Amino acid sequence: MAGFTFAGIASRVVFGTGTIAQAGEEVARLGHTRALVLSTPHQSDDAARLADRLGPLAAGVFSEAAMHTPTDVTARALDAYAASGATCVVALGGGSTIGLGKAIALRSGADQVVIPTTYAGSEMTDILGETEDGRKTTRRDPAIRPETVIYDVDLTLGLPAAMTVTSAMNAIAHGVEAIYAPDANPILTMMSLEAMRAFARSLPGVVADGQDHAARADVLYAAWLCSTALGYITMSLHHKLAHVLGGTFGTPHAETHAILLPHTAGFNAAAVPELMAPVAAIFGGAVGGGLHDFAARCGAPLRLADLGLRGADLDRAAAIAVQSPYANPRPFGEGDIRALLQAAWEGTRPQD
Ligand code: NAD
Repeated sequence: MAGFTFAGIASRVVFGTGTIAQAGEEVARLGHTRALVLSTPHQSDDAARLADRLGPLAAGVFSEAAMHTPTDVTARALDAYAASGATCVVALGGGSTIGLGKAIALRSGADQVVIPTTYAGSEMTDILGETEDGRKTTRRDPAIRPETVIYDVDLTLGLPAAMTVTSAMNAIAHGVEAIYAPDANPILTMMSLEAMRAFARSLPGVVADGQDHAARADVLYAAWLCSTALGYITMSLHHKLAHVLGGTFGTPHAETHAILLPHTAGFNAAAVPELMAPVAAIFGGAVGGGLHDFAARCGAPLRLADLGLRGADLDRAAAIAVQSPYANPRPFGEGDIRALLQAAWEGTRPQD
Protein backbone atom coordinates (compact mmCIF):
# COMPACT_ATOMS: atom_id res chain seq x y z
CA MET A 1 0.00 0.00 0.00
CA ALA A 2 1.18 3.53 -0.84
CA GLY A 3 1.57 5.95 2.07
CA PHE A 4 -1.20 8.44 2.73
CA THR A 5 -2.39 11.26 4.93
CA PHE A 6 -5.95 11.31 6.31
CA ALA A 7 -6.91 14.42 8.23
CA GLY A 8 -10.38 13.25 9.31
CA ILE A 9 -13.78 14.59 8.34
CA ALA A 10 -14.57 18.01 9.77
CA SER A 11 -18.32 18.52 9.33
CA ARG A 12 -21.09 17.24 11.59
CA VAL A 13 -23.63 15.19 9.59
CA VAL A 14 -27.26 14.46 10.47
CA PHE A 15 -28.81 11.98 8.04
CA GLY A 16 -32.34 10.62 7.96
CA THR A 17 -36.00 11.23 7.24
CA GLY A 18 -37.76 14.32 8.56
CA THR A 19 -34.42 15.64 9.80
CA ILE A 20 -35.24 19.18 8.63
CA ALA A 21 -37.10 19.36 11.95
CA GLN A 22 -33.69 19.35 13.65
CA ALA A 23 -32.49 22.53 11.91
CA GLY A 24 -33.24 24.76 14.91
CA GLU A 25 -31.52 22.39 17.29
CA GLU A 26 -28.45 22.36 15.05
CA VAL A 27 -28.35 26.17 14.83
CA ALA A 28 -28.55 26.37 18.62
CA ARG A 29 -25.93 23.65 18.98
CA LEU A 30 -23.49 25.94 17.17
CA GLY A 31 -24.29 28.65 19.72
CA HIS A 32 -26.47 30.90 17.54
CA THR A 33 -29.77 32.62 18.23
CA ARG A 34 -30.32 34.27 14.78
CA ALA A 35 -29.98 32.55 11.39
CA LEU A 36 -30.59 33.85 7.85
CA VAL A 37 -32.30 31.24 5.65
CA LEU A 38 -31.03 31.02 2.05
CA SER A 39 -32.58 29.55 -1.12
CA THR A 40 -33.03 30.10 -4.85
CA PRO A 41 -36.17 31.91 -6.06
CA HIS A 42 -37.48 28.47 -7.13
CA GLN A 43 -37.31 27.14 -3.55
CA SER A 44 -38.44 30.34 -1.79
CA ASP A 45 -41.66 28.73 -0.47
CA ASP A 46 -39.65 25.91 1.10
CA ALA A 47 -37.32 28.51 2.63
CA ALA A 48 -40.28 30.45 4.06
CA ARG A 49 -41.66 27.24 5.60
CA LEU A 50 -38.25 26.51 7.11
CA ALA A 51 -38.11 30.03 8.57
CA ASP A 52 -41.56 29.46 10.12
CA ARG A 53 -40.30 26.22 11.58
CA LEU A 54 -37.24 27.98 13.03
CA GLY A 55 -39.49 30.53 14.74
CA PRO A 56 -37.51 33.15 16.68
CA LEU A 57 -34.23 31.64 15.45
CA ALA A 58 -35.04 32.87 11.91
CA ALA A 59 -33.64 36.33 11.25
CA GLY A 60 -35.06 36.43 7.71
CA VAL A 61 -35.03 34.76 4.30
CA PHE A 62 -32.85 35.62 1.30
CA SER A 63 -34.08 33.78 -1.81
CA GLU A 64 -31.89 35.07 -4.64
CA ALA A 65 -29.22 32.35 -4.84
CA ALA A 66 -28.12 31.71 -8.44
CA MET A 67 -25.92 29.25 -10.35
CA HIS A 68 -22.11 29.75 -10.01
CA THR A 69 -22.41 32.20 -7.09
CA PRO A 70 -22.37 35.61 -8.83
CA THR A 71 -20.59 38.13 -6.58
CA ASP A 72 -23.31 40.79 -7.04
CA VAL A 73 -25.85 38.38 -5.48
CA THR A 74 -23.39 37.70 -2.65
CA ALA A 75 -23.05 41.47 -2.03
CA ARG A 76 -26.84 41.80 -1.69
CA ALA A 77 -26.97 38.72 0.54
CA LEU A 78 -24.25 40.15 2.80
CA ASP A 79 -26.29 43.34 3.19
CA ALA A 80 -29.34 41.26 4.11
CA TYR A 81 -27.22 39.17 6.50
CA ALA A 82 -25.84 42.26 8.27
CA ALA A 83 -29.26 43.96 8.44
CA SER A 84 -30.89 40.83 9.88
CA GLY A 85 -28.54 40.58 12.85
CA ALA A 86 -27.87 36.91 12.01
CA THR A 87 -24.62 35.18 13.00
CA CYS A 88 -25.34 32.00 11.08
CA VAL A 89 -26.85 30.95 7.72
CA VAL A 90 -29.10 28.00 6.94
CA ALA A 91 -28.76 27.09 3.24
CA LEU A 92 -31.66 25.03 1.87
CA GLY A 93 -31.13 23.79 -1.69
CA GLY A 94 -28.61 22.57 -4.23
CA GLY A 95 -25.07 23.68 -5.03
CA SER A 96 -26.16 27.20 -5.97
CA THR A 97 -27.68 27.96 -2.57
CA ILE A 98 -24.90 26.18 -0.71
CA GLY A 99 -22.38 28.27 -2.71
CA LEU A 100 -24.08 31.47 -1.54
CA GLY A 101 -23.89 30.31 2.08
CA LYS A 102 -20.19 29.56 1.65
CA ALA A 103 -19.56 32.98 0.08
CA ILE A 104 -21.27 34.69 3.03
CA ALA A 105 -19.35 32.54 5.53
CA LEU A 106 -16.01 33.29 3.90
CA ARG A 107 -16.58 37.05 4.08
CA SER A 108 -18.37 37.32 7.44
CA GLY A 109 -17.26 34.35 9.52
CA ALA A 110 -20.87 33.07 9.66
CA ASP A 111 -21.39 29.44 10.65
CA GLN A 112 -23.31 27.34 8.13
CA VAL A 113 -26.04 24.75 8.57
CA VAL A 114 -26.62 23.24 5.14
CA ILE A 115 -29.64 21.21 4.01
CA PRO A 116 -28.87 19.80 0.53
CA THR A 117 -31.74 18.97 -1.83
CA THR A 118 -29.70 17.72 -4.83
CA TYR A 119 -26.82 15.26 -5.18
CA ALA A 120 -24.27 17.79 -6.54
CA GLY A 121 -22.16 17.53 -3.40
CA SER A 122 -21.03 21.02 -2.44
CA GLU A 123 -22.07 20.62 1.18
CA MET A 124 -19.08 18.66 2.52
CA THR A 125 -16.36 20.61 0.67
CA ASP A 126 -14.07 23.56 1.32
CA ILE A 127 -14.46 24.62 -2.34
CA LEU A 128 -16.17 27.79 -3.55
CA GLY A 129 -16.63 28.72 -7.22
CA GLU A 130 -17.71 32.31 -7.85
CA THR A 131 -18.41 34.39 -10.95
CA GLU A 132 -17.66 38.04 -11.51
CA ASP A 133 -18.09 39.76 -14.89
CA GLY A 134 -18.69 36.36 -16.46
CA ARG A 135 -15.39 34.92 -15.17
CA LYS A 136 -15.48 31.93 -12.80
CA THR A 137 -12.78 31.46 -10.16
CA THR A 138 -12.52 28.62 -7.66
CA ARG A 139 -10.80 28.64 -4.29
CA ARG A 140 -10.39 26.38 -1.29
CA ASP A 141 -10.29 27.55 2.32
CA PRO A 142 -11.14 25.80 5.60
CA ALA A 143 -13.51 28.72 6.38
CA ILE A 144 -15.65 27.68 3.40
CA ARG A 145 -16.54 24.22 4.72
CA PRO A 146 -20.00 24.09 6.36
CA GLU A 147 -20.06 23.24 10.06
CA THR A 148 -23.23 21.11 9.93
CA VAL A 149 -24.98 19.23 7.13
CA ILE A 150 -28.53 17.92 7.51
CA TYR A 151 -29.57 15.32 4.93
CA ASP A 152 -33.33 14.78 4.78
CA VAL A 153 -34.48 12.12 2.32
CA ASP A 154 -37.98 13.67 2.21
CA LEU A 155 -36.58 16.81 0.58
CA THR A 156 -35.27 14.83 -2.40
CA LEU A 157 -38.53 13.04 -3.25
CA GLY A 158 -39.62 15.91 -5.52
CA LEU A 159 -36.30 16.35 -7.35
CA PRO A 160 -37.30 15.95 -11.03
CA ALA A 161 -36.07 12.76 -12.75
CA ALA A 162 -33.80 14.56 -15.24
CA MET A 163 -32.04 16.50 -12.50
CA THR A 164 -31.90 13.43 -10.26
CA VAL A 165 -29.87 11.59 -12.90
CA THR A 166 -27.49 14.39 -13.93
CA SER A 167 -26.93 15.37 -10.32
CA ALA A 168 -26.13 11.75 -9.42
CA MET A 169 -23.65 11.53 -12.32
CA ASN A 170 -22.10 14.75 -10.98
CA ALA A 171 -21.65 12.99 -7.63
CA ILE A 172 -20.17 9.85 -9.23
CA ALA A 173 -17.60 12.10 -10.93
CA HIS A 174 -16.38 13.22 -7.48
CA GLY A 175 -15.99 9.59 -6.44
CA VAL A 176 -14.11 8.64 -9.61
CA GLU A 177 -11.63 11.48 -9.26
CA ALA A 178 -11.13 10.73 -5.55
CA ILE A 179 -9.87 7.24 -6.40
CA TYR A 180 -7.01 8.39 -8.64
CA ALA A 181 -6.31 11.73 -6.94
CA PRO A 182 -2.66 12.43 -6.03
CA ASP A 183 -3.80 12.80 -2.40
CA ALA A 184 -6.15 9.78 -2.39
CA ASN A 185 -6.42 7.77 0.80
CA PRO A 186 -8.01 4.40 1.60
CA ILE A 187 -10.94 5.87 3.56
CA LEU A 188 -12.06 8.14 0.73
CA THR A 189 -11.52 5.38 -1.84
CA MET A 190 -13.67 3.06 0.25
CA MET A 191 -16.36 5.72 0.53
CA SER A 192 -16.27 6.42 -3.22
CA LEU A 193 -16.64 2.76 -4.16
CA GLU A 194 -19.41 2.26 -1.62
CA ALA A 195 -21.16 5.28 -3.15
CA MET A 196 -20.87 3.89 -6.67
CA ARG A 197 -22.34 0.57 -5.55
CA ALA A 198 -25.27 2.45 -3.99
CA PHE A 199 -25.83 4.55 -7.12
CA ALA A 200 -25.62 1.45 -9.33
CA ARG A 201 -28.20 -0.45 -7.28
CA SER A 202 -30.62 2.40 -6.49
CA LEU A 203 -30.50 5.16 -9.12
CA PRO A 204 -32.49 3.15 -11.71
CA GLY A 205 -35.21 2.60 -9.07
CA VAL A 206 -35.37 6.33 -8.30
CA VAL A 207 -35.67 7.09 -12.02
CA ALA A 208 -38.53 4.60 -12.31
CA ASP A 209 -40.28 5.99 -9.22
CA GLY A 210 -39.09 9.27 -7.73
CA GLN A 211 -41.17 8.56 -4.60
CA ASP A 212 -39.35 5.29 -3.82
CA HIS A 213 -38.20 6.31 -0.37
CA ALA A 214 -35.73 3.48 0.22
CA ALA A 215 -34.02 4.03 -3.14
CA ARG A 216 -33.94 7.81 -2.58
CA ALA A 217 -32.31 7.23 0.83
CA ASP A 218 -29.63 5.01 -0.72
CA VAL A 219 -28.91 7.60 -3.43
CA LEU A 220 -28.70 10.46 -0.91
CA TYR A 221 -26.35 8.34 1.22
CA ALA A 222 -24.19 7.83 -1.88
CA ALA A 223 -24.23 11.56 -2.60
CA TRP A 224 -22.99 12.26 0.92
CA LEU A 225 -20.10 9.81 0.45
CA CYS A 226 -19.09 11.42 -2.86
CA SER A 227 -19.33 14.95 -1.48
CA THR A 228 -17.10 13.93 1.41
CA ALA A 229 -14.54 12.47 -0.99
CA LEU A 230 -14.55 15.65 -3.10
CA GLY A 231 -13.98 17.72 0.02
CA TYR A 232 -10.61 16.17 0.75
CA ILE A 233 -8.97 15.49 -2.63
CA THR A 234 -7.34 17.35 -5.49
CA MET A 235 -9.54 17.37 -8.59
CA SER A 236 -8.20 16.26 -11.99
CA LEU A 237 -9.08 16.33 -15.70
CA HIS A 238 -12.80 15.67 -15.33
CA HIS A 239 -13.51 18.63 -13.05
CA LYS A 240 -11.16 20.81 -15.08
CA LEU A 241 -13.05 20.13 -18.32
CA ALA A 242 -16.44 20.64 -16.66
CA HIS A 243 -15.15 23.95 -15.29
CA VAL A 244 -13.90 25.05 -18.73
CA LEU A 245 -17.17 24.19 -20.49
CA GLY A 246 -19.39 25.70 -17.78
CA GLY A 247 -17.21 28.76 -17.21
CA THR A 248 -16.41 29.67 -20.82
CA PHE A 249 -19.41 28.36 -22.74
CA GLY A 250 -22.12 28.53 -20.07
CA THR A 251 -23.14 24.87 -20.34
CA PRO A 252 -25.38 23.68 -17.47
CA HIS A 253 -23.42 22.28 -14.53
CA ALA A 254 -24.94 18.86 -13.82
CA GLU A 255 -25.56 17.94 -17.49
CA THR A 256 -21.99 18.83 -18.41
CA HIS A 257 -20.61 16.57 -15.67
CA ALA A 258 -22.96 13.76 -16.68
CA ILE A 259 -21.94 13.86 -20.35
CA LEU A 260 -18.20 14.19 -19.75
CA LEU A 261 -17.86 11.51 -17.07
CA PRO A 262 -17.77 8.32 -19.21
CA HIS A 263 -15.13 9.93 -21.44
CA THR A 264 -12.87 11.39 -18.75
CA ALA A 265 -13.13 8.30 -16.54
CA GLY A 266 -12.46 5.97 -19.49
CA PHE A 267 -9.49 8.08 -20.60
CA ASN A 268 -7.89 7.99 -17.16
CA ALA A 269 -8.73 4.34 -16.48
CA ALA A 270 -6.28 3.36 -19.21
CA ALA A 271 -3.46 4.82 -17.07
CA VAL A 272 -4.52 3.36 -13.70
CA PRO A 273 -6.33 0.10 -14.53
CA GLU A 274 -5.76 -1.50 -11.10
CA LEU A 275 -7.19 1.48 -9.25
CA MET A 276 -10.21 1.62 -11.54
CA ALA A 277 -10.89 -2.12 -11.73
CA PRO A 278 -13.49 -1.96 -8.91
CA VAL A 279 -15.29 0.85 -10.77
CA ALA A 280 -15.36 -1.28 -13.92
CA ALA A 281 -16.76 -4.18 -11.88
CA ILE A 282 -19.54 -2.01 -10.45
CA PHE A 283 -20.62 -0.68 -13.85
CA GLY A 284 -20.56 -3.91 -15.82
CA GLY A 285 -16.97 -4.58 -16.83
CA ALA A 286 -15.60 -1.32 -18.30
CA VAL A 287 -15.16 2.12 -16.76
CA GLY A 288 -15.99 4.47 -19.65
CA GLY A 289 -18.30 2.07 -21.50
CA GLY A 290 -19.95 0.98 -18.26
CA LEU A 291 -20.63 4.54 -17.12
CA HIS A 292 -21.95 5.36 -20.61
CA ASP A 293 -24.36 2.41 -20.50
CA PHE A 294 -25.45 3.25 -16.95
CA ALA A 295 -26.07 6.91 -17.89
CA ALA A 296 -28.03 5.86 -20.98
CA ARG A 297 -30.11 3.38 -18.97
CA CYS A 298 -30.99 6.11 -16.46
CA GLY A 299 -31.92 8.56 -19.21
CA ALA A 300 -28.99 10.97 -18.79
CA PRO A 301 -28.05 13.26 -21.71
CA LEU A 302 -25.10 11.81 -23.65
CA ARG A 303 -24.07 14.48 -26.18
CA LEU A 304 -22.40 17.85 -25.61
CA ALA A 305 -23.93 18.85 -28.95
CA ASP A 306 -27.33 18.83 -27.21
CA LEU A 307 -26.13 21.50 -24.75
CA GLY A 308 -25.71 24.03 -27.56
CA LEU A 309 -21.95 23.62 -27.98
CA ARG A 310 -20.74 23.94 -31.56
CA GLY A 311 -18.00 21.82 -33.08
CA ALA A 312 -15.80 24.95 -33.34
CA ASP A 313 -16.12 25.55 -29.57
CA LEU A 314 -14.29 22.27 -28.96
CA ASP A 315 -11.01 23.62 -30.39
CA ARG A 316 -11.15 26.56 -28.02
CA ALA A 317 -12.17 24.41 -25.05
CA ALA A 318 -9.24 22.02 -25.67
CA ALA A 319 -6.81 24.95 -25.92
CA ILE A 320 -8.06 26.47 -22.64
CA ALA A 321 -7.99 23.08 -20.89
CA VAL A 322 -4.21 22.71 -21.44
CA GLN A 323 -3.26 26.31 -20.60
CA SER A 324 -2.25 25.61 -16.99
CA PRO A 325 -0.96 22.33 -15.52
CA TYR A 326 -2.98 20.31 -12.99
CA ALA A 327 -2.98 16.86 -11.49
CA ASN A 328 -4.03 13.92 -13.66
CA PRO A 329 -3.04 10.24 -13.61
CA ARG A 330 -2.66 10.15 -17.42
CA PRO A 331 -0.49 12.69 -19.25
CA PHE A 332 -2.24 14.40 -22.14
CA GLY A 333 -1.81 17.00 -24.86
CA GLU A 334 -4.25 19.29 -26.58
CA GLY A 335 -4.95 16.66 -29.26
CA ASP A 336 -6.01 14.11 -26.62
CA ILE A 337 -8.44 16.58 -25.07
CA ARG A 338 -9.79 17.59 -28.47
CA ALA A 339 -10.47 13.92 -29.30
CA LEU A 340 -12.10 13.31 -25.89
CA LEU A 341 -14.35 16.36 -26.36
CA GLN A 342 -15.28 15.23 -29.87
CA ALA A 343 -16.40 11.85 -28.53
CA ALA A 344 -18.41 13.56 -25.75
CA TRP A 345 -19.89 15.97 -28.30
CA GLU A 346 -21.08 13.08 -30.44
CA GLY A 347 -22.02 10.88 -27.48
CA THR A 348 -20.10 7.85 -28.71
CA ARG A 349 -19.62 4.94 -26.30
CA PRO A 350 -16.05 4.94 -24.89
CA GLN A 351 -14.11 1.71 -25.48
CA ASP A 352 -12.16 1.72 -22.17
P1 NAD B 1 -28.75 24.16 -8.32
O1 NAD B 1 -28.47 24.34 -6.88
O2 NAD B 1 -28.41 25.28 -9.24
O3 NAD B 1 -30.29 23.77 -8.48
C1 NAD B 1 -30.91 23.81 -9.76
C2 NAD B 1 -32.39 24.15 -9.63
O4 NAD B 1 -33.07 23.07 -9.00
C3 NAD B 1 -32.60 25.38 -8.72
O5 NAD B 1 -33.66 26.15 -9.25
C4 NAD B 1 -33.01 24.76 -7.41
O6 NAD B 1 -33.79 25.62 -6.62
C5 NAD B 1 -33.78 23.53 -7.88
N1 NAD B 1 -33.84 22.45 -6.89
C6 NAD B 1 -32.88 22.05 -6.03
N2 NAD B 1 -33.30 21.02 -5.31
C7 NAD B 1 -34.55 20.73 -5.69
C8 NAD B 1 -35.51 19.76 -5.31
N3 NAD B 1 -35.26 18.82 -4.38
N4 NAD B 1 -36.71 19.77 -5.92
C9 NAD B 1 -36.98 20.68 -6.89
N5 NAD B 1 -36.11 21.62 -7.32
C10 NAD B 1 -34.91 21.65 -6.72
O7 NAD B 1 -28.04 22.85 -8.92
P2 NAD B 1 -26.88 21.91 -8.37
O8 NAD B 1 -26.52 21.03 -9.50
O9 NAD B 1 -27.23 21.31 -7.07
O10 NAD B 1 -25.69 22.91 -8.08
C11 NAD B 1 -24.92 23.44 -9.12
C12 NAD B 1 -23.99 24.50 -8.55
O11 NAD B 1 -23.27 23.96 -7.44
C13 NAD B 1 -22.94 24.99 -9.54
O12 NAD B 1 -22.79 26.39 -9.39
C14 NAD B 1 -21.68 24.25 -9.12
O13 NAD B 1 -20.51 24.94 -9.48
C15 NAD B 1 -21.87 24.17 -7.62
N6 NAD B 1 -21.15 23.04 -6.99
C16 NAD B 1 -20.16 23.35 -6.13
C17 NAD B 1 -19.45 22.35 -5.49
C18 NAD B 1 -18.37 22.72 -4.51
O14 NAD B 1 -17.83 21.85 -3.84
N7 NAD B 1 -18.05 23.99 -4.38
C19 NAD B 1 -19.76 20.99 -5.72
C20 NAD B 1 -20.80 20.70 -6.61
C21 NAD B 1 -21.50 21.73 -7.23
